[in-house]
Amino acid sequence: MRGKNGFDSQMQEIILGMDGSEPKPLLLLHVCCAPCSSAVLERLAGVFRIIACFDNPNIDSATEHDLRAGETLRLTELTGWAEQVIVTPYDPTIFRTSVRGLEGEPEGGARCAVCYRLRLARSAQKAAELGCSFFTSTLTLSPRKDAALLNELGREAGEAAGVRFLPSDFKKRGGYQRSILLSRQFGLYRQDYCGCAFSRKHPPDPEGEGPKIFPS
Ligand code: SF4
Repeated sequence: MRGKNGFDSQMQEIILGMDGSEPKPLLLLHVCCAPCSSAVLERLAGVFRIIACFDNPNIDSATEHDLRAGETLRLTELTGWAEQVIVTPYDPTIFRTSVRGLEGEPEGGARCAVCYRLRLARSAQKAAELGCSFFTSTLTLSPRKDAALLNELGREAGEAAGVRFLPSDFKKRGGYQRSILLSRQFGLYRQDYCGCAFSRKHPPDPEGEGPKIFPS
């Protein structure tokens, strides 16, 4: 179903329908970065057993990839909100091949739709391999991303892999604001660009300017 609103309500209805079932269903959560995952993990941890899956071949360098992945691991170790964290090997070739010809697209345009589809499809396949009942993604936490498109692509990916996609709009109910508070609380690195080289506003600093970390 394509629509601007209602994905958060759909998620809440599914959770209500589970009626606190034990053992909790297993959910694979595709994680784009630690700050976005913070509020999502906090929201879902009491309802699902969570496998956090950091799978982001879109990120422009191994250094940045490993920094974001490391922060995800640190957050989950501190909070215990995920049972398991998977960091897939960094392989940017698949992303670069997928978006060939779309390099000049603006953020939010056709390149991003391909990027979302790629990551959701890989996450759905991983969820199927691991026997998860559900999968979803932290990507809908961002106010800059099209939640309707993400939900449509997630549902398609889930159907193709045989795993139920959990609809979401994690920015709702103060989710985005909560992620900022949690990032400060845990001193998480918050990047200033989405991930690919085309979304960088500034070139990487050859002198190695340190990551931006909120004071805890
Ligand atoms: S701007 Fe973000 S969502 Fe769009 S292609 Fe780049 S990394 Fe992917």
